[in-house]
Amino acid sequence: MLIRGADVGGRIRDVRCADGRVREVAPDLSPRADESLLDAGGGALLPGLHDHHIHLHALAAALSSIRCGPPEVEDLEGLRRALAVEPDERGWLRGTGYFESVAGPLDRNLLDELRHDLPVRIQHRSGAMWFLNSRALAALGIADTAAEDVARPDEEVAAIERDPKGRATGRLFRADAWLRDRLPTSAAPDLAAVGRRLAAYGVTAITDATPTNGSDEAGRFRAAQASGALPQRLAMMGRLAATGPVDPGDPMLRVGAHKIMLDEPALPDLEQLVDTIRAAHARKRPVAIHTVTRAEIHFALAALTAARVLPGDRIEHASVAPPEAVEIISRLDLAIVTQPNFLAERGDAYRANVDERDLPHLYRVKSWLEAGVRLGGGTDAPFGHPDPWRAMHAAVERRTATGDRLGREECVSPETALALFLPAFSRRPQPNDETAPAIEIGDPADLCLLAVPWSRARLDLSSDHVSATLRDGSLIFSA
Ligand SMILES: [Zn+2]
Repeated sequence: MLIRGADVGGRIRDVRCADGRVREVAPDLSPRADESLLDAGGGALLPGLHDHHIHLHALAAALSSIRCGPPEVEDLEGLRRALAVEPDERGWLRGTGYFESVAGPLDRNLLDELRHDLPVRIQHRSGAMWFLNSRALAALGIADTAAEDVARPDEEVAAIERDPKGRATGRLFRADAWLRDRLPTSAAPDLAAVGRRLAAYGVTAITDATPTNGSDEAGRFRAAQASGALPQRLAMMGRLAATGPVDPGDPMLRVGAHKIMLDEPALPDLEQLVDTIRAAHARKRPVAIHTVTRAEIHFALAALTAARVLPGDRIEHASVAPPEAVEIISRLDLAIVTQPNFLAERGDAYRANVDERDLPHLYRVKSWLEAGVRLGGGTDAPFGHPDPWRAMHAAVERRTATGDRLGREECVSPETALALFLPAFSRRPQPNDETAPAIEIGDPADLCLLAVPWSRARLDLSSDHVSATLRDGSLIFSA
């Protein structure tokens, strides 16, 4: 492949790719007989993007689910309309993205009122909770008293909420894997739709941060990559054991960190967390600890300090990071993966619900880099929007949907925002000099071509500008 006339680091260059690598970058390369040509027309040629925190199977499911939260659904009537549709091939209605601003806390009674004729399950926006109506509870074998349940999840991994009389309320916590095992089987989630969509954003690599990933998921990812349905490279986080037949030399699928969820109302014993981290390290696996609240980040840091840090250890989200946590993270040399898109998507709710003391510490970007912390960006799709360009835009603007600015001191340049979604984590803010990252000879030919030069794209960070995406020098998307 010969890419002609691209904006490469501010200069117009031709770029030759062969055998999956960038082989030549020069002002005027002559095409070879066997080469395909791509005319860049002066558009910026960037390294392919890496979404450092995403959930592929959940995203595939969400793309074929009913949206039940803002901005599509704002109130009870909106929810009623959204649910007035035909069921899926299993005879169920599956909704995602519910948030309490729509109709307060959901439970089976409210859901029965909206739809009682077929099983309904709706996921909370956080991903931590499912709401089921009575038909759905019955279909899953959850009885009105715990003693009569046909099937009950292991309380370590999932919980069924019951009222004081023992009747199931319709709320299930952390029950994804359990639900998947009980629901009538259907076709495997369509990773092709996800792969196509991410390729159209310029994404050539992803880190799947799903804690329950194991050998089944590894097999499904490999099959999707082999068929071309999932054209991106993948690092798969997940459980400590049972990642299945993953070849350590495979450039397309590698095993990522062992993912650990923390949940403030139910934090584990500190010693237990230290042991879990040590067990992962003993297998040469770094850990990725999910923290959202102030208590969670301090708890994670106490455990990591005791267990000692392995290169590659990271904190996911660090949604609230008080100054002392930034200092400890810098000292321990931990990496952070942040989601600036949540400021745009959820910022108004944060403003209303987050402790005022914590507002300036939300989804930091600049402070991490100024403290020399390795930083990457992830959309957390489907819990955030999967378009990394929206996240970059949010990192620059930090504006909520109603236009308020959250944490002005944390705003960064477009160049720094782009760097969050490149394969290597950054360690410092990029100079605000309108220069896109250079493409070097020998780099993997994983590339994202824009229709406009970087000097224009940086003023309007949007996936609309992506005109072609290449992985290993082959087109995986072309506008
Ligand atoms: Zn996540």
